[in-house]
Amino acid sequence: MTDRYAVVGNPVAHSLSPRIHAAFARETSQDIEYTGMLAPLDAFKPALLQFRDDGGRGVNVTLPFKYQAWQFVDAHARGALEASAVNTIHFHDGKSTGYNTDGVGLVTDLQKNLDFAIYGKRVLIMGAGGASYGVMYPLLTAPPQTLVVANRTFEKAEGLVRHFERYKDLAQEGISARRYEDLAGTEFDLVINATSAGLTDQMPSLPVNIFAPDALAYDMVYGKETPFMRFSAAHGIRTTDGLGMLVEQAAESFWLWRAVRPQTAPVIAALRNDA
Ligand code: NDP
Repeated sequence: MTDRYAVVGNPVAHSLSPRIHAAFARETSQDIEYTGMLAPLDAFKPALLQFRDDGGRGVNVTLPFKYQAWQFVDAHARGALEASAVNTIHFHDGKSTGYNTDGVGLVTDLQKNLDFAIYGKRVLIMGAGGASYGVMYPLLTAPPQTLVVANRTFEKAEGLVRHFERYKDLAQEGISARRYEDLAGTEFDLVINATSAGLTDQMPSLPVNIFAPDALAYDMVYGKETPFMRFSAAHGIRTTDGLGMLVEQAAESFWLWRAVRPQTAPVIAALRNDA
């Protein structure tokens, strides 16, 4: 019997996940069906229970439900617990386990696809929303030399750093929260834009000269060129979007559900081709 999976969100029609998982299933000969599922904003839990009771085996969770998914599951895997956000649920034996594969997706894209070693690097992450929470722990385990979080609403950056306080010693020089204007004069080897500013053609107010000479600029947004991508490219900095992260987080979910690891490079290439 075909096993059923879905991505749950609101909105969800734009999601590339059905296409990505269909490609994984074809390549690995897995008999699955993967669809997009629009859940009402006030009825995430009933929608999820209905899907499970109809025989659903697992879901990916996207905006705005990742925290509700974290609250919903019976057990949390490492990474999901720390993130306070779940983007992958596996239904099994009448129980549900929650995972967060966003961080693994980012780290795999950086280290495997982009050949960028995080170890010992000075890392700046912009944004203190769900995406930043999801990637903090996996980034810290790389581990970087230092991890700085900057956010427009500074108190949220402070809250995020407090949340991960007990892991701060993983980074050689710890983690800290900074205001954008206080970043002037500090160089980073990796600058990650985990804000949604690019979606509205904006970018955080970054000082110039933020990039070390061999720095990598990484924008989690995909499917468009953002002002941050243009800014970093204009400074001669190697720049990438978040498409690789999207496909790698999907591959990790697929692996958790099916115990089969799909190839990601052909899927990333196909999606780039169509963009
Ligand atoms: P949230 O809504 O939780 O957080 C948004 C963050 O962006 C906040 O820190 C907010 O700051 C900041 N922000 C928004 N607009 C601006 C602006 N104009 N200037 C400066 N800061 C701004 O979103 P998520 O954390 O869930 O997602 C962030 C982005 O990451 C999204 O674009 C999403 O598409 C992308 N993403 C990509 C993934 C991938 O696989 N490639 C996976 C997950 C997310 P403030 O607190 O001040 O409001």
